[in-house]
Amino acid sequence: MSKITEFFGVNVFNDVVMRERLPKSIYLKLRKTIDEGLPLEAEVAEVVANVMKDWAIEKGATHFTHWFQPMNGRTAGKLESFISPKKDGTAITEFSGKELIKGEPDASSFPNGGLRTTFEARGYTVWDCTSYAFIVEDEGGAVLYIPTAFCSYTGEALDKKTPLLRSMEALSREALRVLRILGNNTSTRVIPMIGAEQEYFLIDKELFKKRKDLLYTGRTLFGAKPPKGQEMEEHYFGSINEKVAAFMKEIDEELWRVGVSARTKHKEVAPNQYEIAPIFTNANIAADQNQIIMEMLLKVANRHGLVCLLNEKPFKGVNGSGKHINFSLMTNDGINLFDPGKTPHDNLQFLLFVSAVIKGVDEYQDLIRVSAATPGNDHRLGASEAPPAIVSIFLGEQLTEIFEQIEKGEIIGIKGREKLETGVITLPVLKKDSTDRNRTSPFAFTGNKFEFRMVPSSASISDAVTILNTILADKLKEIADRLEKASDIDKEAKNVIREIIKNHKRIIFNGDGYSKEWVEEAQRRGLLNLKTAIDAIKYFIDEKNILLFERHKVLTRSEIYSRYEVMLEGYIKQVLVEAKTMLDIVSKDILPCALKYVKELSKTLKELLSLGIECENEKEFLIKINNLVETIIKNNKKLDDLVKEVEDCGENSYKKAKFIRDNVFSQMEMLREYVDELENYVDRSLWPMPSYGEIMFDG
Ligand code: ADP
Ligand code: MG
Repeated sequence: MSKITEFFGVNVFNDVVMRERLPKSIYLKLRKTIDEGLPLEAEVAEVVANVMKDWAIEKGATHFTHWFQPMNGRTAGKLESFISPKKDGTAITEFSGKELIKGEPDASSFPNGGLRTTFEARGYTVWDCTSYAFIVEDEGGAVLYIPTAFCSYTGEALDKKTPLLRSMEALSREALRVLRILGNNTSTRVIPMIGAEQEYFLIDKELFKKRKDLLYTGRTLFGAKPPKGQEMEEHYFGSINEKVAAFMKEIDEELWRVGVSARTKHKEVAPNQYEIAPIFTNANIAADQNQIIMEMLLKVANRHGLVCLLNEKPFKGVNGSGKHINFSLMTNDGINLFDPGKTPHDNLQFLLFVSAVIKGVDEYQDLIRVSAATPGNDHRLGASEAPPAIVSIFLGEQLTEIFEQIEKGEIIGIKGREKLETGVITLPVLKKDSTDRNRTSPFAFTGNKFEFRMVPSSASISDAVTILNTILADKLKEIADRLEKASDIDKEAKNVIREIIKNHKRIIFNGDGYSKEWVEEAQRRGLLNLKTAIDAIKYFIDEKNILLFERHKVLTRSEIYSRYEVMLEGYIKQVLVEAKTMLDIVSKDILPCALKYVKELSKTLKELLSLGIECENEKEFLIKINNLVETIIKNNKKLDDLVKEVEDCGENSYKKAKFIRDNVFSQMEMLREYVDELENYVDRSLWPMPSYGEIMFDG
């Protein structure tokens, strides 16, 4: 293998390629669009398209695709070839500026939440030149991916990228206002920086194929707890077996080729669970990269006889998967606005930006929770191993102390960073991090960034980041409005911070987020505890939230309503597919197996009796199994009835989704419990699918 540096980014139409290949004037104009958000000229696009095409064809690409991120959270794009036939039967390759800038996929089958009626199905993809185009190579050939935004004929956003880009604009605008007041006249843009850690499971492909639940829904709907789960805690950071190591090596190489700087890979807490994280970058690029990572994980796993599960809760009883979004604000000249520096207590700029986060997260707890509202996450949030469904901020000892001092009006300062003494002379002495880690907090300050840990593992990060950006833009706007009017800026800034901490300190919680006590304490503090996705989703259309998005031109009222519909529809579809899969498996696999077992037991019992052998215990066992089977039949029927009743809920998606949560969802849990109990007694060789133990510990 050649050196990493030699193939990192070889398939990316990045700055180096552009500088080398574009005429200088064109390159400079494109750079201005990318860096300063200036409009793109048609003439520039024409030249870029041509150069991009030549570069892609040299690399073996035959097709290009306008790659976009519809509202279902996945990615899409149709392949188009560069070939243009000539009259004489030969062909030339062509790619115009128009084709680069604008595409028109047949968009009628993407979720639109009512934004487009089918007769007005036009949707356009528009080139996002702030995210580099790249080439993906696989068995199907090489394809040029052009990142795009996706919108309707009337300009409404039909995707997750457009609102994200709009929110970045809003955030930059308001953050710059605050910076200017504080005397920064050099920075021209503030960019949210995102590093998204992605958790996932890997399982053997052959075993996967034998589980219809995994095949249809991405998670197991049944499965008795194996004798051993994650209690030994031996998996976390453990050594990686060869098959998985080979998979990881390939993933890294594939990602490096397309310019994704995959950096960490390690085992997570649950058996067969892993994590991958790229180095942080601009929010919109990070969102693209996270999509690429997910696609690559699925594809490469398949090549290695493995299946990658991105579902939030593939297995009951062991940890689920999430996405940790590391978030900071960086100026274009490299200042991290969440960096406390050596003396955070007199770093007014830092304290103001952190205050904005505190106020924003407190006032918009509901929206933050909305960004994590998927049915998969309902199995994860609030369980004892994931962040609770209650939104709170962990600040750490040092920062909390500073804010407490500010509140009291007496800033004394803080101790310098202590040294970390290991007691072993040969180990280097390190400076202690300024915050300890708190893994139980949904929103933790981790030294020079925040880490938001509620995001579902299978979702796009765009919603969460869009919401964070907008909330922050709003609070920075309020701060800027006040400071711009103040005669003594320093004094007013301190007043602002003091007021915020006084009014919003309820959102700060440094303790154990998994504990029962916290749930009670949070209730006393008046914090929201939106336990399920359905509880959360309805807050999306709360008037205060609609006004927030409108104020910053991130989403219009109808765009919000359409997303609300899409979320509900997604919930309804997913849970119904799960319920129907469950019915299918119980009726066609579990019950036939169970009845066979009952028959066998009865036969044995009969024979024992005919031989005059005492067999009270065997009889009791048979009765127990038979009772369980009966209960399963009853509960299966009940689930079937409830699924049919969904049809009677009418057209109102919220009503339908709520009915599903209150009835179908809970009935599924009930049915599962009985089936799992049965699994514990039935002959292993009869059970119709691989067990948890086999899947998790298959070497
Ligand atoms: P953890 O200990 O939380 O598992 P990882 O090393 O797995 O940490 O991931 C941390 C992520 O945070 C990486 O993607 C990293 O690039 C990102 N990160 C580091 N510094 C910043 C920052 N200033 N802003 C945003 N993200 C950051
Ligand atoms: Mg991590």
